Amino acid sequence: MLIGILGGGQLARMTALAGIGLGLRFRFLDPSAESPARECGELVVGGYDDPAALERFARGLDVVTCEFENVPVGSLEALSSRVAVRPCPRAFSTGQDRANEKSLFGSLSIPVPEFALVRSLDELRSGVAAVGVPSMLKTCRMGYDGKGQARIESADESSLRAAWGAVGERASVLERRVSFTREASMICVRGLDGGKVFYPLVENVHERGILKRSIAPSEWPGGLEERAREHAGAIADSLGYVGVLAVEFFVEGEGDRARLIANEIAPRVHNSGHWTIEGAETSQFENHLRAILGLPLGSTSPVGWSAMVNLIGGMAGLGDALAIEGAHLHDYGKGARPGRKVGHITVRRATREGRRESLALAEALADAVNALA
Ligand code: AMP
Repeated sequence: MLIGILGGGQLARMTALAGIGLGLRFRFLDPSAESPARECGELVVGGYDDPAALERFARGLDVVTCEFENVPVGSLEALSSRVAVRPCPRAFSTGQDRANEKSLFGSLSIPVPEFALVRSLDELRSGVAAVGVPSMLKTCRMGYDGKGQARIESADESSLRAAWGAVGERASVLERRVSFTREASMICVRGLDGGKVFYPLVENVHERGILKRSIAPSEWPGGLEERAREHAGAIADSLGYVGVLAVEFFVEGEGDRARLIANEIAPRVHNSGHWTIEGAETSQFENHLRAILGLPLGSTSPVGWSAMVNLIGGMAGLGDALAIEGAHLHDYGKGARPGRKVGHITVRRATREGRRESLALAEALADAVNALA
């Protein structure tokens, strides 16, 4: 089987690493010849909307999937006339536009922060009057890792103008700033036959809009995990989704009053699922491949207690990272650059106590290399 992946970043690389063991072969399309996936298969260097590159990429593939959501939907549609594209193009047209995402959540009665669609400075003024401050202005398209976002603290004219400038005066959603107690993500896998499996609800911590750490399994107030599964499952069913789908949530309130508010979906394997490589019976990467190939899905049961720490900007030394008990280092083969995800460390221990110990060491190491970047 030859699998085509649009995008040759670390997600493609880790997907291929999971698939090579199953005897699968990979081809990637990416504009950069330095793509992290280059060592795991054949790399076609070209633009995602370049017909000649798409032609070279598509030849002889059994199935096409994507490692990022901002793929041109037109290219996916063109590819789907000759090879199965999973998940389907509609998942991407939804995931790559925050306005579409909000209407999908709305149609499934999944709670979201109060929001307003904003296409001009004038609409920003009326949006802030309706939604209030503090709030977040986020571009509808092409925003990720905190990019294309502005925090609005005050409704005065200069703050609004600054925020509108910060998002490049582009169509955006204005959202109430949720004073969340925790952040979470549900990773769902939906097979070709519509069967679904779910990983434990992951607890996430972000810094400046970038995921810093994920913990799984975590402890949640009664019912929260089930609700997250219901929401993610409903989204996957409504899109006729095949593969791994991640849904990010804010948790507002505590104890019996804790409730989930949906933030966004990612139609792909997700950073908050990297811990599954060592910490679950079947990794998200393998399960994504199983799903898109119509194979039986693997168990999502956790193995021990895991936590993942992102290495952002700079790479940890091999010896330093591996000296931590239960640590597994992943180096994506990318050059160091501030704000760039270049690797991660997952710690897996047999006890929760042990996880806390190893996580503290992994975080100190990550903070040290991040500070150098
Ligand atoms: P996003 O790109 O939408 O995933 O946002 C990245 C991170 O920014 C989130 O995980 C939160 O930590 C923060 N954030 C985004 N939107 C909101 C919001 N409406 N209220 C509070 N924090 C937010």
